[in-house]
Amino acid sequence: MSPIIDHLITVLGTDHVLTGQAVAESYSHIWRMEEKLLAKAITLPRNTEEVSAVVKICNQYEQPIVVFGGRTNLVGSTETSGEDIIISMEKMNQIEEVDTQSRTVTVQAGAILENIQMAVSSEDMFLPLNFGAKGSAQIGGIISTNAGGLQVFKYGMTRNLILGLEVVMADGTIISGLKKIIKDNSAFDLKQLFIGSEGTLGVVTKAVLKIIEAPKSRTSAFVGINNYTQVIHFLKFMDKELAGNLSSYELIWEDSYKIMTGPQNDIKPPIPYGYKYYVLIEGLGIDQNKDQARMQFLLEEAYEKEIILDAAIADGSSDLEWFWTIREDVHQLKSSCTIDHHFDISIPIPEIGIYVEETVNRLNQIEGVHKVFAFGHVADGNIHFIVDKENSNPELKKEIDLTVYSPLKKLGGSVSAEHGIGLHKKAYLDLCRSAEEIRIMKVLKKALDPKNLLNRGKVIDNG
Ligand SMILES: Cc1cc2nc3c(=O)[nH]c(=O)nc-3n(C[C@H](O)[C@H](O)[C@H](O)COP(=O)(O)OP(=O)(O)OC[C@H]3O[C@@H](n4cnc5c(N)ncnc54)[C@H](O)[C@@H]3O)c2cc1C
Repeated sequence: MSPIIDHLITVLGTDHVLTGQAVAESYSHIWRMEEKLLAKAITLPRNTEEVSAVVKICNQYEQPIVVFGGRTNLVGSTETSGEDIIISMEKMNQIEEVDTQSRTVTVQAGAILENIQMAVSSEDMFLPLNFGAKGSAQIGGIISTNAGGLQVFKYGMTRNLILGLEVVMADGTIISGLKKIIKDNSAFDLKQLFIGSEGTLGVVTKAVLKIIEAPKSRTSAFVGINNYTQVIHFLKFMDKELAGNLSSYELIWEDSYKIMTGPQNDIKPPIPYGYKYYVLIEGLGIDQNKDQARMQFLLEEAYEKEIILDAAIADGSSDLEWFWTIREDVHQLKSSCTIDHHFDISIPIPEIGIYVEETVNRLNQIEGVHKVFAFGHVADGNIHFIVDKENSNPELKKEIDLTVYSPLKKLGGSVSAEHGIGLHKKAYLDLCRSAEEIRIMKVLKKALDPKNLLNRGKVIDNG
């Protein structure tokens, strides 16, 4: 054993420092479980003090660290080399308190999103944070990527839900800011530094999240539209007529809808094929029967006004599950690809129709591209592409990347709406952040992690 491993074992015990074969048998991403994991060791701290002790030891040995949450990120941010020590947060999975008076939930960073949702819901409260990876993604990873998801349109990104954080800094110092208050203008809001910085500035160990009173009704519908202008028109119409209760507005292009609802998935399409756009909407309210009747009425009105061409409303909880499984289970798209290449861009909402059409056409002209799937959180200006390509050749990757990313600067968009930068998008950061902004990011990184130990080489270079 090396001195650092011995030192880590003295603090955590042998059961909580995995090496050799145990490391090789683990994985760096839920979609690549068959690949052997490379790392010097995986540490499994049980509490904040142990995280701090591990980080202090790593600091002393100038040892690079990668923090593992649920390993569901889509940007290579948990990739490792054999030189890294991993801090896996899986043992720190406690949901410490659901406070229905302050309307907060306090959790350890390794708590899985779906478990937090259930704990909150058992107190008749609601955590408005949801996306397809909820069964694996941990709140620490979600905070570190500032994840978005299916209800950002109404409730904002993860950042909007965080009231307090506890963080272990690169030298092992514990910063504890687990406040439950919404308003706090007492100087710099330091927690914001750790939200969305992908584990490069500190290790999140606990969080206080804002929760809300549970809605009493949930209504959803699938809608068919052929014209992008009407997609925007329908968004404005529903948002206005539901008076702030519209909580999701998801857009799926026909090619994606066909795979998501194809016979291979054993999922029937709620409305027939043949439309260019499929919109899935959700309204949260207070009375199931009345809210469903209201949605039905509005869909009929939109149909009569020729804003939409078809619609199916979810009737009961099994329909709701059916509709939302279609949208959430992007694995269906992924598994239909030879090699899948993911994108998560954002641009102003009015630009999306033409940008997607032109980009998909350009991508389809590239030799080695089989198919392009488009879908996304259109009300947030956020579109995902999954490009099905023939191989992992770097030249092909670059050509596809440039086709998707090049127009974004002019459009005032972003190479990452919600997944982050990690390794995969580092080369394109300057398309959406200025040289001055990137310089300030480097200044912050140097100040908070002067030895460049935390997630080294991800997001920005330390030069
Ligand atoms: C099927 C699927 C659907 C998805 N849908 C969405 C979506 O709709 N919206 C969206 O925004 N994202 C989505 N994602 C990606 C999203 O980024 C992740 O699912 C989630 O936010 C990452 O959480 P995680 O625990 O898996 O983090 P990981 O993947 O383990 O880590 C992500 C980053 O955070 C760091 N990190 C992890 N834990 C900590 C910690 N405690 N302290 C400091 N750093 C830490 C890691 O080092 C890494 O840099 C989806 C992913 C999948 C697979």
